[in-house]
Amino acid sequence: MTIAVVGSTNIDLAIRVPHICAKNETVIGTGSYEIFGGGKGANQAASVAAAGAKANFISKVGDDAFGEQSMKGLIDGGVDCSYVIRDANSSTGLAAILVDDNGDNAIAVAPGANGQLTTQDITAAEAAIADASHLIVQLEVPLDTVRHAIKIAAKHGTSVIFNPAPAPAPGEDFGPVTYFTPNEVEAASLSGIAADNERSLDAITDTFFDRGVENVIITLGARGCFVRSRDERLFIDPYKVDAVDTTGAGDTFNGFFGAALSRGEQLGKAAKYACAAAALAVTRPGARTNLPTHDEVIEFMG
Ligand code: ADP
Repeated sequence: MTIAVVGSTNIDLAIRVPHICAKNETVIGTGSYEIFGGGKGANQAASVAAAGAKANFISKVGDDAFGEQSMKGLIDGGVDCSYVIRDANSSTGLAAILVDDNGDNAIAVAPGANGQLTTQDITAAEAAIADASHLIVQLEVPLDTVRHAIKIAAKHGTSVIFNPAPAPAPGEDFGPVTYFTPNEVEAASLSGIAADNERSLDAITDTFFDRGVENVIITLGARGCFVRSRDERLFIDPYKVDAVDTTGAGDTFNGFFGAALSRGEQLGKAAKYACAAAALAVTRPGARTNLPTHDEVIEFMG
């Protein structure tokens, strides 16, 4: 089955630094810089394809060299980009990324064309959402656009995987979400409850259930993830790896998670597979280069 992904496309400019700089500080990087294809939407679409499922990407880029470069990378990775719009009036989104020696990062984003993805653009891509088993959305495009995509998915019985990243304002309504996948920072900010112990994860999840979410998966970085539905509750243990770059861990998680669900995997198994894929991804530099393949993930899981 196909997965429709609505979201951002960026070019990532990455500099490796000894430490993330503080306000007004200049930090000299340890080498040159690198250019990667990025954007949460594009990363998640590429992850769906890397996992061996069909990804149909709905996005907007500028009519510029970075847009061209982004599309080429995605198409080479097996993503269907026929619904990606090239907008002559805006520039392709750009992310400036610092990565330190621990693999931690700091990121600033110029949204460019991502901010111009409209509800009308989504309506024009309705067939892609209707044909998909799952829709994956995140929040690097306007919230109204995301809400509209979720509404169209609901109209056609397409399941919705909503990765609320970057975190929106608390109290926002999103519509009917089947799988809600915040990281722990987003989960805390959306619920107003600090994600500092097991009990708080339950309390946070309850607030999401109260808002109509069906299943909650809170990703916990190097600690794995927490999965709760109405009749299931489990922790997925982390896979122990040496992280070199955690940029895009959540994107790999969401793409592989969606791919597993579209193959008919149960929630817990899909989350475990996604944890394994994301753990492998953080052992390699870049958010989207060297994504693991389905076979690599299966072998890694043992
Ligand atoms: P985000 O990238 O959105 O902040 P997380 O940091 O929670 O998301 O990471 C998503 C998933 O990636 C985690 O649930 C985990 O499975 C995997 N992961 C992230 N960092 C590590 C790590 N250092 N070691 C092993 N797995 C990791």
